[in-house]
Amino acid sequence: MNKTIKNIVIAGGGSAGWIAAAALAKQMGSVVKVTLVESEEIGTVGVGEATIPPMRVFHKLLGIDEREFMRATSATFKLGIQFENWGQRNDSYIHSFGMTGKESFIAPFHHFWLYAKEQGIAKEFGKYCFELEAAKVDKFATSDNANVNYAYHLDSSRYATFLRDYSESRGVKRIEGKISQVNKDPTSGHISSLELESGELVEGDFFIDCTGFRGLLIEQSLNTGYEDWSHWLPCDRAIAVQTESVAEPRPITRSIAHDSGWQWRIPLQHRVGNGLVYCSQYLTDEEAKNTLLNNIEGKMLTEPRVIKFRTGQRRKHWNKNCLALGLSSGFVEPLESTSIHLIMMGIVRFLRLFPNGEISDSVIDEYNQQAKDEIEKIRDFIILHYHVTQRQDSPFWQYCKNMDIPASLAHRIKLFSEHAHAFQADGELFRVDSWTQVMLGQGIMPKQFHPSVTAMPVGELQRFLQGIENSISKGLEQLPSHSQFIAKYCAQ
Ligand code: FAD
Repeated sequence: MNKTIKNIVIAGGGSAGWIAAAALAKQMGSVVKVTLVESEEIGTVGVGEATIPPMRVFHKLLGIDEREFMRATSATFKLGIQFENWGQRNDSYIHSFGMTGKESFIAPFHHFWLYAKEQGIAKEFGKYCFELEAAKVDKFATSDNANVNYAYHLDSSRYATFLRDYSESRGVKRIEGKISQVNKDPTSGHISSLELESGELVEGDFFIDCTGFRGLLIEQSLNTGYEDWSHWLPCDRAIAVQTESVAEPRPITRSIAHDSGWQWRIPLQHRVGNGLVYCSQYLTDEEAKNTLLNNIEGKMLTEPRVIKFRTGQRRKHWNKNCLALGLSSGFVEPLESTSIHLIMMGIVRFLRLFPNGEISDSVIDEYNQQAKDEIEKIRDFIILHYHVTQRQDSPFWQYCKNMDIPASLAHRIKLFSEHAHAFQADGELFRVDSWTQVMLGQGIMPKQFHPSVTAMPVGELQRFLQGIENSISKGLEQLPSHSQFIAKYCAQ
């Protein structure tokens, strides 16, 4: 079975399947044949509409035109996430995609800010971040030379269609049908073909499992196993509903904490995506539905739909001749909109490691190690939001506040609390800026800051901060509103 990969079969056509197909078609289209099997009857998970900035890099790799993509997916811009009621009730902070303050060599900006705070001359931390301030007043603009860091809110089913068109026009073959059986080679245990309900046999020498939570190939056929993280990320359900827009779309995702979970609000050009992520141990589906429906604006466009999940990761993301991408590979819950990013990173990693000959364990092990490192660091960042809270007002929050956390995260929290140090590890997605905004936002105030910052005379520090504030205000004055910009740039 071990031979050069010439014929790749993708099982599943949600975001994961079509992202994989598009990247393979673009980068390897002349070298491998790509076939995608999907079932309209089964459908997709139908959520996954908030993204993060690296998506823009992936789109560049594919040569996707931003305006065309945004029109096709009714997308809006996203400058960050507004977390409400997380540190405590009636609290609010923004995790923005921008840089706060200015870069410095020894001590990052937040050390200067902590010193200024001690001197009584600091404004709110977010005041020194352009993207954050723009999000607060619903303003946005970009251009080829603009330095603003942003992502998108998009319609997930339209995104899959957009990538399907892209992929099919570059030679990807799509087969409509339900996979009824996964056939394996009896000697190697490698997957050899997918059998459809129609009786059609789809043969390949490499398979990408994009069948969503069911993991039809990676789990149901290869029994790869799952590492469960629900003791750290106990939410296990979501209820989602789409509503009509009642206001101009904001360039920000809202994440509103409730008693046993949290609610997302994602504004698109033509509608709003809403959902409540919750823990079934503390909230029934009926209660979740009531909580969600009591907290939406605008007429419902779809019936509320419950989605069950279990946070964790597949023990191997790549097993034998099968790569799992998307929900079939694991799920860390959508709090920081990282799943689509993980799909993109997964297919790029696969393309980089693509063997020119037999698949061997070395390449599989390397892929798996990198994928595991990446998702585990994201996992820690998500747990941080739940664990570092002052909320004790419900059994759910009491659990989160008091639960054991991974040692890697405990170390980060201690380091920040004691010394204000935050870091971005090798291969890690979230930058110092992200860690700092969330740790401060959730209520950790470090005991110390770096001594080097006190070398700056207080008057100079004040002018330095004022200078940043002034340049942000000037920049904001020149920005149109988010809606005005969409209207002229990418209206559907
Ligand atoms: P799916 O969308 O479930 O697609 C599975 C595909 O496999 C479908 O085409 C289906 O027809 C096919 N299939 C399955 N079985 C068979 C079969 N037997 N025969 C043929 N075809 C089959 N991610 C983000 O980045 N941002 C977010 O804001 C975000 N929010 C989320 C909120 C929730 C509540 C959840 C659960 C997830 C969220 N995600 C988010 C994750 C995101 O939705 C997924 O990563 C993304 O949609 C990819 O899903 P998928 O393609 O792996 O699976």
